[in-house]
Amino acid sequence: MRLLIMGPPGAGKGTQGELLAEHLGVRRLSTGEMLRDARAERTELGREAQRFMDAGELVPDAVVLGLVAQAMNGSGPTAGFILDGFPRTIPQAEGLSDLLARRGTPIDAVVLLKVPEEELVRRLTGRGAEEGRTDDDPATIGRRIQVYYAETEPVVRWYGETGVRVIEETGTGSIEEIQASLRERLSL
Ligand code: AMP
Repeated sequence: MRLLIMGPPGAGKGTQGELLAEHLGVRRLSTGEMLRDARAERTELGREAQRFMDAGELVPDAVVLGLVAQAMNGSGPTAGFILDGFPRTIPQAEGLSDLLARRGTPIDAVVLLKVPEEELVRRLTGRGAEEGRTDDDPATIGRRIQVYYAETEPVVRWYGETGVRVIEETGTGSIEEIQASLRERLSL
């Protein structure tokens, strides 16, 4: 199973993606986590990414595409995966589509988690305080949500138009309920 998990920041992509990945026995690849690791290790790429992340902006497409291509190379051609937080722009979606076409492993479905904006802000504000994520301060939260609607929401439509199955799931309710509903809808 090859899935994308999409939705605004704070929708629960990481939580639901991780549970689905465990259930399926596949890898979850999160570009946000890869970038945070690079930033913590202070690699050149991490230092370049930092100013975009701290401002709530997207890291340039070429950087993110490079990270994903590298991560995919490390896994067998038939292995399933869940991509979390990628692609976030149309050029990233096109790049991913080329990469997967070369491997002969197209996406099976896109999961879209929908959560009202005031709930996103509430969740992200709580997470910023708990985890000390520097991009979860109020100004950056607002910007990240804005960037999602401007850059990433069109990607969901793009998948729908290219004939990929898009599963829209309400991302409010308990973690277990949402996970159960996703598994049912994906026949897992
Ligand atoms: P996330 O943990 O997915 O919310 O990502 C945290 C931050 O990393 C984002 O606000 C972006 O600055 C950056 N980032 C993660 N994934 C991408 C991506 N696919 N394209 C561009 N920037 C990304």
